[in-house]
Amino acid sequence: MKQIFTSLGINTVLLDFDNTLIETHVIFQKCCRSLRADLAQKAKVSVDEIKKDFDVFMAEAYNQYFVNPEKVWKYVFTQLANLYPVLNDSINESLQRVFDEIYNVPIPLKEGALELLQTLNDITDLKIGLVTHAERDWTIRKLRDAGLIDLFPEENIFDVPVTGPKTTQHWQYALDQMNGIAENTLFIGDNLRADIVPALEIGALGVLLKEDTNWDFHHEGLMEESRQFITIGSLLEIESALSEFSEGGLPPIA
Ligand SMILES: [Mg+2]
Repeated sequence: MKQIFTSLGINTVLLDFDNTLIETHVIFQKCCRSLRADLAQKAKVSVDEIKKDFDVFMAEAYNQYFVNPEKVWKYVFTQLANLYPVLNDSINESLQRVFDEIYNVPIPLKEGALELLQTLNDITDLKIGLVTHAERDWTIRKLRDAGLIDLFPEENIFDVPVTGPKTTQHWQYALDQMNGIAENTLFIGDNLRADIVPALEIGALGVLLKEDTNWDFHHEGLMEESRQFITIGSLLEIESALSEFSEGGLPPIA
């Protein structure tokens, strides 16, 4: 890896956290599935029916409240209770359940995450940072639970406010704080809009971890716009993908 970074001129790596290094989506979906089953039973409708409404309200909540957990979930449960008044009494119970099952449990590491971070840490003079779209307390706890807390210098953990979107300016801020130079920097993330578009705009090299489980609306309409980044299906592929890139550059745009 060290040689590949040298040949690419990379001396700074900034990573996204959720769904890039840890399986947040898996925990999230698991909780949503059991919640919907429970709500469907209470409302005496089918799980599919509840899922349709749940997904609509969730998308609306994200558009309005981004990743502010309290506001997003309160919106979803309140809207569902408007549709199904019988759910009114269990709003608080549902909220508590979400916090117990998503925000207070250890989240498993993604395949290859620990190995990647250890490899990066072993490269002398390589600067490593985290640019994450979540509250700082939750971020620190997730890092600790995942055994990653010692692999990031504390001053290089940047949390993006949950009340708005994660944008180019947040990546730029992290880069500036670390005295990094865009052309010598690698961004790694799972979200095209929030992680890779910023890399393109700033002039860093982007690596997109693309999986079938990625939230669809993160990728809508963006995938075809640019191919000036590297796509991998697992963190285990990053070294060979970067090596290929350093030898041949990106494939031409079709
Ligand atoms: Mg992410």
